[in-house]
Amino acid sequence: MRSPSLVRFLRYGVALTALIAATLATASTASPFKPGQTYFDADRHVEYQAGSLPIIFTAPHGGKLTPRTIPDRTSGVTMSDAFTQELARAVNAEFQRRAKQPPHVIISLLHRKKLDPNREIKEAAQGSPVAERAWVQFHESIKESIRVSLLTHGFAFIIDLHGHGHAIPRLELGYGIDGAFFNQTDAELDAAIRDTRSTLNELARRSDSFAKIIRGPRSLGGLFETAGFRAVPGTRDPGPGNFPYFNGGYIVRTYAGKGRGVDGLQIEAPRAGVRETEETRAKFATALFDSLAAFLAEHYSFDLITGKRIAQTSTAETSTVPAPAAR
Ligand SMILES: [Zn+2]
Repeated sequence: MRSPSLVRFLRYGVALTALIAATLATASTASPFKPGQTYFDADRHVEYQAGSLPIIFTAPHGGKLTPRTIPDRTSGVTMSDAFTQELARAVNAEFQRRAKQPPHVIISLLHRKKLDPNREIKEAAQGSPVAERAWVQFHESIKESIRVSLLTHGFAFIIDLHGHGHAIPRLELGYGIDGAFFNQTDAELDAAIRDTRSTLNELARRSDSFAKIIRGPRSLGGLFETAGFRAVPGTRDPGPGNFPYFNGGYIVRTYAGKGRGVDGLQIEAPRAGVRETEETRAKFATALFDSLAAFLAEHYSFDLITGKRIAQTSTAETSTVPAPAAR
């Protein structure tokens, strides 16, 4: 027969075990979200895959849902970036295949005519409480990804994925800097590194050459070119010239380059050769993984495959991850 005190003890014991389990879970993953697990808000308007890599992918303009509970947005851009949701999924699949840990992936499932998470909330949701809820969910997921990345790895890298319809089918890499900036010489770029705010500010603070990190052979643009994708800025296209160029919007400007351990960029992908088919998306995903792995190894001493810091040897240039060229 159970005495009341035993029942009380059992109850307490169960509660305590749950509490300890929760504390242990929090201490090991530093998040209520399990890496690799996908979460949805109650409305199922935002999809969040929790990660354990300090890499965060966002796809704000590839959503398709047009629920009647949200009125159409009446101002701003309402056209979606076709196949960018699929592009984010292809990139995620490449990570699942090649990295030992998953990245964070945040996808807006709502069509851009209902919500634009790459704008501040007023222009994004235009007063709809349902759209505002999704906006908050989208951005809280980014904040949580950043929080857990900083806690576990000491840095975070955010990549905001988009699609452009400009005439030149090249990747437009947006670092929050006006296109005209790139019309300067490398020496002028290097001289401007301390007083130019970019979404690579964390890296820029540790570097002496802006030109090198933004359009050198080991910049993301340079690495993408080596992997077979024309990119601006890069070594072939040092700047956009007189052509239109997206230089980074609300998401990267809000979270990257603010001196809080977060760097990143916006990638605007052309449709031709990148977004258009399952094959081109897979090819791009491979190139992105290779380029990012080489970039992070070289500039952040981070191994994208193992998800661990690379032990520092004699120079910061040492990397254990082969560059795409070495493959
Ligand atoms: Zn877009």
